[in-house]
Amino acid sequence: MKSLIVPGGLLLLGIMVLVSSGWLTLALPALSFLYYCALIGGMLLAWRFHSSRTFFALLVLFLAQQAVALFSTGNASGGTSEWTALWAAVLLVPLDFILIALMQERGFTVSSTAPIGLFFFVQCVVVAVLCRAAEELPPLPAPAHHVATAFSLPGYAFLTFAAAGVFLLVRYLFTRKPIDSALLWSLAAYFLCLRFIGSVRISTVYSSTAACILAVSIIENSYLLAYHDELTTLPSRRAFNDALLRLQEPYSIAMVDIDHFKRFNDTYGHDTGDQVLRLVAASLARVTGGGQAYRCGGEEFAILFSGKTTSEVVDHLEQLRVTIEASEFRMRSGDRRQVPRGPDRRNQRTRSRTRKGDAIRQLAKEKPQARLSVTVSMGVATSTKEKPHVDLVLQAADKALYRAKANGRNRVETASASRRRRLTAAGIA
Ligand code: GH3
Ligand code: MG
Ligand code: MG
Repeated sequence: MKSLIVPGGLLLLGIMVLVSSGWLTLALPALSFLYYCALIGGMLLAWRFHSSRTFFALLVLFLAQQAVALFSTGNASGGTSEWTALWAAVLLVPLDFILIALMQERGFTVSSTAPIGLFFFVQCVVVAVLCRAAEELPPLPAPAHHVATAFSLPGYAFLTFAAAGVFLLVRYLFTRKPIDSALLWSLAAYFLCLRFIGSVRISTVYSSTAACILAVSIIENSYLLAYHDELTTLPSRRAFNDALLRLQEPYSIAMVDIDHFKRFNDTYGHDTGDQVLRLVAASLARVTGGGQAYRCGGEEFAILFSGKTTSEVVDHLEQLRVTIEASEFRMRSGDRRQVPRGPDRRNQRTRSRTRKGDAIRQLAKEKPQARLSVTVSMGVATSTKEKPHVDLVLQAADKALYRAKANGRNRVETASASRRRRLTAAGIA
């Protein structure tokens, strides 16, 4: 919910409050300057970050604004050509936003941008021809409310904007991408821009907001790419490193590694491996006990428990291990290799020395039914007086994970248990 509303919805709400309260006292030239800053800045950002969808959305807003401004007669009643431009904007902007939402992001290659660019060009030509033709017609009678700030949009305007709004909302709920929420809020802002087109100042405020929302979505997307792992949607290693700086003592760090993951890839292909990663990540994201999971890289994850000791978190980790072991992964029929590649020769020496893990036995057993089961090993350590620094806690958690692997995998090992064993062996405890 937060990612839907922040920043686009919040920005629009803030502007609506400013407009209705009368606190926005900027003059029209300043507002126009802001509009062009948001528009040009957004387009440059979109180009720099290879976001052709944001670029085209900004272009559509610009063209629609230009069409309405170009054919505006300047008098209160509005000419027939102005109405035509307005109707075209009401109909085409929501449709274009839907089209942009459905577009595959393939950057600014000629093959991907040429068809959509051509489509918008044809739209411009058709609208221009219709508006020029409408100039010959007698002006429409002035609606009584046109002199007021709220402009009476044609009835179908509500329908097209509402339909496109619902579509973009549903699309966002599926993709959870900043660009899709930005398209939704930008369209809402543009609706208000048209609604208040009788007042140039207010209309410019909302058109600037529409452009601004799209420009901000590029920054939001960059943040997401840097701090979130795209495959699993878990926070990434960078977010993990940041979170380590904010930990409250005492804290526990659990390192998690999927057992024999390489064999999933080797036997069923990389795509199935990716699906297994997603399945495990989904369970990790639901860890109880106040933990936060991160994907540190490959098939390695970490869980941070701020303000918790090993004894407080170990039961939650054990429960998590059991949940992952119990969760069944069904392969889609197309996912399975027709001829399994078989064991990786590079691993043969290691395999003969180590016990085969539960995951692989399960894998072999389940293969005919195309059902897989996956297990994980975990090592957990807590900050103590002997381990005052986070690097030492990480090292201890890594060592505990290594022991979990060596002791047969599919288990949780604690750094404190090894310390107890050492002390017992030395006869101290
Ligand atoms: P162990 O039980 O000892 O942890 O064995 P393992 O096979 O899980 O460990 P290893 O480190 O040998 O293999 C990790 C593999 O994970 C190697 C790499 O091909 C695979 N991998 C890393 N990142 C990804 C990814 O994003 N997708 C997929 N499908 N595979 C990945
Ligand atoms: Mg592994
Ligand atoms: Mg590994």
